Amino acid sequence: MFEAATENRYPWSQYDPNQQKVLRYGHCPECHGAMQLINIENPNPQKVPHGRHRLKHVEGFDYCLERILGCSKLKRSKKQELETENTILTQDAIQRRSFLVENFNLVAVMFAEETGISLYRKQFKKILQIYLENGWYRWTTATCGNLPWLFGRVTFNFSLYGQTLAKGSPLRAAVLSQIPSAGIGPREQLLRTGTEYFTVEFGLREHVVRQDAAGNTRETITLHVHRKGVRSLPDAKIYEEVLEIKPDVFLRRVARKTEPNRSGAALLEMARDTLADYLARHPEAREPSKGAS
Ligand SMILES: [Zn+2]
Repeated sequence: MFEAATENRYPWSQYDPNQQKVLRYGHCPECHGAMQLINIENPNPQKVPHGRHRLKHVEGFDYCLERILGCSKLKRSKKQELETENTILTQDAIQRRSFLVENFNLVAVMFAEETGISLYRKQFKKILQIYLENGWYRWTTATCGNLPWLFGRVTFNFSLYGQTLAKGSPLRAAVLSQIPSAGIGPREQLLRTGTEYFTVEFGLREHVVRQDAAGNTRETITLHVHRKGVRSLPDAKIYEEVLEIKPDVFLRRVARKTEPNRSGAALLEMARDTLADYLARHPEAREPSKGAS
């Protein structure tokens, strides 16, 4: 059946140079991650055919670490293996953390351009605190180039209330049309204009790594916006957009960076203070080696 369905073609069949044999793949029915198919060759005596999650990116398959970690079909031992790998404090993770903080003004600009949401400094601080506390800079899928997007990869939702929404953006149009008492203030920020209380939450999730037809690595992340607590309407998702991550654009900007302006300098100072505060409370997060302080 495997051969009939796939004609033994790439990416379903791939030669693995490490194991020196052809491996056969399928999708996990739940998380859609790549699974190596085991015992599908009808050996004698018959062994139970099954799928085994691949924890690393397999060429030709979408890779979403969040979805694999959340998959109920993932073996407990594999889940632990993944979790351990993504919580180890490596030298690379420490470098990424510094890179994020030392370029935080450029991260903020990139975030606003790509999402259409300009956050005020307090909101940035809150997101950065959670990002550091959860050790997300240690994730193996984080790179210096994708930090402006992965930095906002939060399972928490943040209030859009008071944030500036880009003029003419589909996000702004969706919010204004689906929240009856939403309005725009003098600085283009989202305001509550009526008496009805509501919340509008947003976040980024589902970071997916894949290869395009030319073999280049592409990354996407999904921006989602929800409304809650509108008395006359049910809680619902009101906007979703898959954003293309542009690591090369961000890294070029970092390479050409100049002295920040006043608000950029204030953002940098906030980011440095937030990191210093995090390290003061987590001495174990200062050095990569165990027991160092
Ligand atoms: Zn799965």
